[in-house]
Amino acid sequence: MTTTRASHDGAALRLAAADASLIADSIRSAGLKVTAPRLAVLRALTGMPHSSADALFGAVRSDLPGTSLQAVYGVLSSFSTAGLVRKIEPAGSPALFERRVGDNHHHLVCTRCNVVHDVDCVVGHAPCLTPADALGFDVRAAEVIYWGLCASCQAETAHP
Ligand SMILES: [Zn+2]
Ligand SMILES: [Zn+2]
Repeated sequence: MTTTRASHDGAALRLAAADASLIADSIRSAGLKVTAPRLAVLRALTGMPHSSADALFGAVRSDLPGTSLQAVYGVLSSFSTAGLVRKIEPAGSPALFERRVGDNHHHLVCTRCNVVHDVDCVVGHAPCLTPADALGFDVRAAEVIYWGLCASCQAETAHP
């Protein structure tokens, strides 16, 4: 987040500060202690939803010189236990994390470039899928992944 024009620096800094305090608030309200690694990981995840631990580590390592991939895994695991982030695990992909939680939304995943997009519930409220026979389960969530080719991969494969 850099700006080349001095006149914009003040605004950018204020924005970044507001952003940081919102992020600290959400960590606190999930019942977790606010730490520098947690702040950095959650902030990175805000800008890049559906990221793997590896990608997030790449995003925060310059801000947190002492951090490790293992530490990022630890942060993500505390976040998902606290309900602050959602973990999705598309087959053949590392676990991906996102801040959009609690709405039971689904995902479109491209089988060619692995791009991931959110899609809202198919119908009605969560859980949006009703099994023909729930076998007595109290169903709390349904996870759907739509696999296919994204629009740009379709375009690229149509005109090689
Ligand atoms: Zn694609
Ligand atoms: Zn999502």
